[in-house]
Amino acid sequence: MIGLISATAAGAAARARLAAAWPERTRVYEGPVGDAVRAAFAECEQVVCFLATGAVVRLIAPLLGDKASDPGVVCVDEGGRFAVSLVGGHGGGANELAREVGEVLGAEPVVTTATDAVGIPGLDTLGLPVEGDVAGVTRALLDGEPVALDSEVPWPLAPVPFVAEGPSRVRLTDRAVEPGPGEVLLRPPSLVVGVGASRGAPVDEVLELIHGALKDAGLSARSVAELVTVEAKAGEAGIVEAAVRLGVPLVTYSAEELAGVEVPHPSDAPLAAVGTPSVAEAAALVRGGELLVPKRKSTRADGRPAMATCAVVRRPARGRLAVVGLGPGARDLLTPRAKAELRRASVLVGLDQYVDQIRDLLRPGTRILESGLGAEEERARTAVAEAKKGQAVALIGSGDAGVYAMASPALAEASDDIDVVGVPGVTAALAAAAILGAPLGHDHVSISLSDLHTPWEVIERRVRAAAEADIVVTFYNPRSRGRDWQLPKALAILAGHREPTTPVGVVRNASRPDGTARVTTLTDLDPATVDMMTVVTVGNTATRDIAGRMVTPRGYRWQEETK
Ligand code: SAH
Repeated sequence: MIGLISATAAGAAARARLAAAWPERTRVYEGPVGDAVRAAFAECEQVVCFLATGAVVRLIAPLLGDKASDPGVVCVDEGGRFAVSLVGGHGGGANELAREVGEVLGAEPVVTTATDAVGIPGLDTLGLPVEGDVAGVTRALLDGEPVALDSEVPWPLAPVPFVAEGPSRVRLTDRAVEPGPGEVLLRPPSLVVGVGASRGAPVDEVLELIHGALKDAGLSARSVAELVTVEAKAGEAGIVEAAVRLGVPLVTYSAEELAGVEVPHPSDAPLAAVGTPSVAEAAALVRGGELLVPKRKSTRADGRPAMATCAVVRRPARGRLAVVGLGPGARDLLTPRAKAELRRASVLVGLDQYVDQIRDLLRPGTRILESGLGAEEERARTAVAEAKKGQAVALIGSGDAGVYAMASPALAEASDDIDVVGVPGVTAALAAAAILGAPLGHDHVSISLSDLHTPWEVIERRVRAAAEADIVVTFYNPRSRGRDWQLPKALAILAGHREPTTPVGVVRNASRPDGTARVTTLTDLDPATVDMMTVVTVGNTATRDIAGRMVTPRGYRWQEETK
């Protein structure tokens, strides 16, 4: 919840705008500002004060505790011109909040935290537990000093400008090592601990067993991602409590699924009890990985039989492939989500001209793999191969990356061992339609006239079908130097079913600085004016040119009335 506090009428007006924009996220604190600030600070994750920074500094000074748990505080000035991230820039999310508030109120976000300011993330913001000299090594990064990354375990990290060798070092490791001077340890959640227990196994016995296994194998408990067991043990108190104390989720699998996992140490006891010859090893291995600690049993001080077993597996890193649409060209048609993914990826794959479009958004340390036109398959393969190595990859395309673009060749190469995230983009047909008016008000299709990958017969059949079905058509890849007869041919097919006066929209470089658009007709369109930077939208029999805008009515009743 975001607490909102104001003192003056102008402040209250801005506060009301924010509250109206975010009814679910915000809560207004009325009354004397001192009391309001104290209450909001105690009750909310974030606070926005429509007060001078000086006043807020004085009010919150006695309340400040730990930067990891304090709420993020943003101040907005009387005039609503600036949204200042005051405290909790990272931990409290105040930097992000200042940007969001800025967007709603039209205020300039003011962010002074060093790491965010220059696009280098703090080492404590990478989403992994950290140990060691976090402040010192982050400062070294900011000062442009060489910081090396020693990656013992592959993990899809956000970009950081690491070098091969340096006096400061970040170690990505799940091993039980201590950070040295000038060193930071990042703990990837790479370990899975499988546990089995007989009914009534005490939590201390389970935990001691787990800690002993990790210690003997030289592994850090901070890299444990989850405890796993068989479904029948989902409610076994000793296991449930052990997961709680380790601060990790407990994940269960059916006995049937576990019985199918090949393990080095099957036994009859669990087979009889829960229906699988292995619980600890099978559960740890069920999603693949390397068995670091084979099944071991607990030891009991009283010499009675062991009640718990465990096994530890290092699971393969799951790389991340984001397929990101950049929109038609204009920066403000690039979605915030696409922006976030571009900054999240440490490897960027794309056509050089698209990389140019967003190069300024990339964080220092992003590895850019750009290639020229035509190398589509290779780009797709590269992106997937990098993700399989455990990297965070963004594969970019203009418009929507799934429309005549990279998503399908990439996903054809991908397997289920990587995470895939699609970020939609504004495709050319939509960017053009918004310029033309409302040509897509009723059913519409897109057809690519490029016969490089598709035989012309197939394209022609689809154009014919659209013509017969009276559907609005947007042609992508309409005409290039070597392909000049396809567009006239396609238009002729449509003309067989539509009036010569049918409106046709021609939009070149939609949303780009040199963009042009015009509405003409089927007979008047000169194909020579069309090139590969253009989309051509042909109306259906109901589409009209109204005041120079192309409008396709939503229903056919309206069409009858306006005929
Ligand atoms: N993925 C892209 C389309 C790639 S195919 C998208 O979703 O928009 C390339 C074709 O898209 C070009 O030949 C052109 O017909 C069209 N196109 C892409 N961007 C355009 C723009 N800004 N203005 C007009 N047409 C565009």
